[in-house]
Amino acid sequence: MLRSFYGGIHPDDGKAMSRNIKIEILPAPEQVVIPMSLHVGTPCEPIVKVGDNVLLGQKIGDSKNTISAPIHASVSGTVKAVEPRLHPNGRMVMSVVIDSDGKDSFHADVAPQKEKCQSDQRAIVDIIREAGIVGMGGAAFPTHFKISSGLGKTETMIINGAECEPYITADHRIMLESPEEILSGIRYLLKAMDLNRAILAVESNKKDAVRLLREKLGEDKDIEIKVLRTRYPQGSEKQLIQSVTGRQVPPGGLPADVGYAVFNVYTAWSVNRAIEQGIPAIDRVVTVSGPGVTEPKNLRVRIGTPVSKLIEAAGGLRDNAEKIMMGGPMMGIPLFDTDVPIIKGTNAIVALTGDENRSVEAPKCIRCGRCVSVCPMNLLPIYMYLYERNDDIRSLEKLNVTDCIECGSCTYICPGRLHLVQSFRNAKAKLNAQKAKTGQA
Ligand code: SF4
Ligand code: SF4
Repeated sequence: MLRSFYGGIHPDDGKAMSRNIKIEILPAPEQVVIPMSLHVGTPCEPIVKVGDNVLLGQKIGDSKNTISAPIHASVSGTVKAVEPRLHPNGRMVMSVVIDSDGKDSFHADVAPQKEKCQSDQRAIVDIIREAGIVGMGGAAFPTHFKISSGLGKTETMIINGAECEPYITADHRIMLESPEEILSGIRYLLKAMDLNRAILAVESNKKDAVRLLREKLGEDKDIEIKVLRTRYPQGSEKQLIQSVTGRQVPPGGLPADVGYAVFNVYTAWSVNRAIEQGIPAIDRVVTVSGPGVTEPKNLRVRIGTPVSKLIEAAGGLRDNAEKIMMGGPMMGIPLFDTDVPIIKGTNAIVALTGDENRSVEAPKCIRCGRCVSVCPMNLLPIYMYLYERNDDIRSLEKLNVTDCIECGSCTYICPGRLHLVQSFRNAKAKLNAQKAKTGQA
């Protein structure tokens, strides 16, 4: 039986545009801009200066804080600037700008690490940290910290191959083109967490990947492949756990609280590459798609490549393209400048046209209750919206607005076209400001 979770929606997934298109390697650009904030947690400090010569894979940023991950040069060349540059989040963030010498000369640290982790579980965690690996499905949470903080609390590892956001096919292509590397990466993650079994969860719209992974797995029983009913937002950690195990993570809780650790398939692939070849997180696969893109593609690109180069490689934008998203149309962030760089969590660049623009001049609630029925977190979006408008912080807290995963299912389904998710982002900001004022933060 195919499993699923409470609530959710079935948006048109648009994946047919790029799911059959093989990953193409985009040549490194002449210049990369690498922000020192590429992950959730403490940003890195630059450890190179203007004029330094750097090699591909050399560490250029690091932090002493445990919730952080080092950052590496994605080209070889010369450091042109160390200064604040525009980040995809819309803020100016300290960045290292490197002019490529076109040689892609690897740093001496880039060497296979396999021998180091034959017997030592801790060595795997250290390699993952030093390789700067973060949640590559978009979450960008440092992987070494997730492993360390889940040690002793985790019973089962779940590998996320759901990729539920419309238009995005990067993980699907990785599963089709590198199934053995993914299975090997899962086994390294199992060893790092001292576990002996993982569940790889894939949605039913990727049957070709399921077939191939099962074929490569053969008779081995350490990894179970589970097929999930296609439904958005299945790839969200808490929804995935519910779909796979039937268990719910309590409000405000973490997967580790119920004994699970979730890693993305692309993270597993990156772990395998870091151990087998010693290559850190210097590039990633990005889907460039959407009705506003001329020739949708799946591209392997260097971290720090300007978004404009990816759009150019995909034949440019169509005349009716109206909005460019980093990530999918549901949870991505709108871009106002295509000169911003690709970061570690960028799984897609999606160009939308006027047809997807659901804004109306006077949004109005008709009290249909559909937002409540689709909310996968069992929240009451309509009331949260009203309380946010009235600045009723206490009621927002009582309704657990901080549990909102900003999946956009309520906004998508709302016939009154209310800007619900935006309202909940504002609500969280108001709640944080209130806590800071009263010293609760
Ligand atoms: S779905 Fe929209 S119109 Fe319906 S109750 Fe919710 S906010 Fe109101
Ligand atoms: S309230 Fe939050 S979690 Fe619930 S459907 Fe809306 S965006 Fe998703």
